[in-house]
Amino acid sequence: MKPKNKFQQRVVEASKKLPKLTKEQIQWGYDNTIEHIGHRTEKGKMTCTKCGHSWQGAGYLVSILTDCNCPECNTKLKVETTKKRVFSGSYYMTIITSCERYQVLRTIIVNYTAKVGELPRYTHSEVMQRWIAPDGKYCTFARLRQTLGTCYYDSWIVHTPLELRSENSSNKFCINVYDKIGIGEVYPRQKLIPELKRTGYKKEFYGQKPLNLFRTLMTDNRAETLIKTGYAKLLERIMDSGWKLHIDNYWASIRICIRNNYKIKDATLWCDYIDLLRFFRKDLHNAKYVCPADLKAEHDRYVIKKAKADAQEEIEKQLEKEAEFRQVKERFFGLVFTDGKISVHVLESVAEIIKEGKLMHHCVGSYHSKSNSLILSACVDGEKVETIEVSLTKLQVVQSRGLCNKNTKYHDRIVNLVNNNISLIEQRLTA
Ligand SMILES: [Zn+2]
Repeated sequence: MKPKNKFQQRVVEASKKLPKLTKEQIQWGYDNTIEHIGHRTEKGKMTCTKCGHSWQGAGYLVSILTDCNCPECNTKLKVETTKKRVFSGSYYMTIITSCERYQVLRTIIVNYTAKVGELPRYTHSEVMQRWIAPDGKYCTFARLRQTLGTCYYDSWIVHTPLELRSENSSNKFCINVYDKIGIGEVYPRQKLIPELKRTGYKKEFYGQKPLNLFRTLMTDNRAETLIKTGYAKLLERIMDSGWKLHIDNYWASIRICIRNNYKIKDATLWCDYIDLLRFFRKDLHNAKYVCPADLKAEHDRYVIKKAKADAQEEIEKQLEKEAEFRQVKERFFGLVFTDGKISVHVLESVAEIIKEGKLMHHCVGSYHSKSNSLILSACVDGEKVETIEVSLTKLQVVQSRGLCNKNTKYHDRIVNLVNNNISLIEQRLTA
């Protein structure tokens, strides 16, 4: 892709000065990213697929229960007891470096194939670079990926050029695939631009992708403050849930904590607690609320309070529904028809309709909101038999259902009884 703006042009220009990967870096990748296999035969003969050394190992249980290091090259091995003789795998490593005024993340894929009895073969390919400016702007260089006929987003086509790529992928899930690529092991020697060094970044990622962490650190000094004042857990928690979305919600309270030297052991609990305080409109600038001596107890107290408030809200919603229902259907209340055996009456509340649906195991429970339907219940000797829906626009029975939606032997009689008395419904409708 050709650069689309000045920023991308400058990065493409700068990228020409990026040095080649060094032998040391690549060797480090081979030594530190690959999980080497210790091949074990049924009889317990072990072979290190990294250096080729063979030895007689202990029994099966020992081999699966204890760590295994090659006695020759001391590589930690993953023991596999198998007839398979060839092993291969791909791993990522990332080098954090700088070029011109940009912080650069260089991600390399490391492949190996190992055959029992031979030395493994290694290849590598630098597949992705993320270039970050001190103001947080960034762009991505990458090779092309195989996108047809594979469900992997990282099937790299290694002979395609590592060049500037469009970030907003046009895939249907709107996922930025470059954010999905694992960064793998991080090369220990890092070169930082001064703007990042200044933020107090100490080779720690707090569970975040380096790209996100670096951009946040360089563009929002609140992130830097959190690290420097010992609130890294809060940084982690807020970044996990979306820094830009949430930091403003907590920042005022965090400042109170910092000022009071209040230690937060459980950042998730504290953030939850602050959300609860906000719900109850407590003063989020007040240490009395924000810095409780017993966070867990205060949190739990508010959780109970919130559950009560939620239940109350649910009751109020229900009452509101009842009021609406009553307003529309009250004119039909008290209607009863009978032929001596069967008695049909109007259901007079949302609660009654829901109860009817539960008792009869059918879906009438949700019908209370149908303003053009009247719901009636038919009983024989005080036992519920069927539930009837009458259309108020057509003035006729739409359906009549017994237990589990089945018709009863009274079905036709019930439908006739209601249809014969439809004029009573009509009278109420026009009254
Ligand atoms: Zn070895």
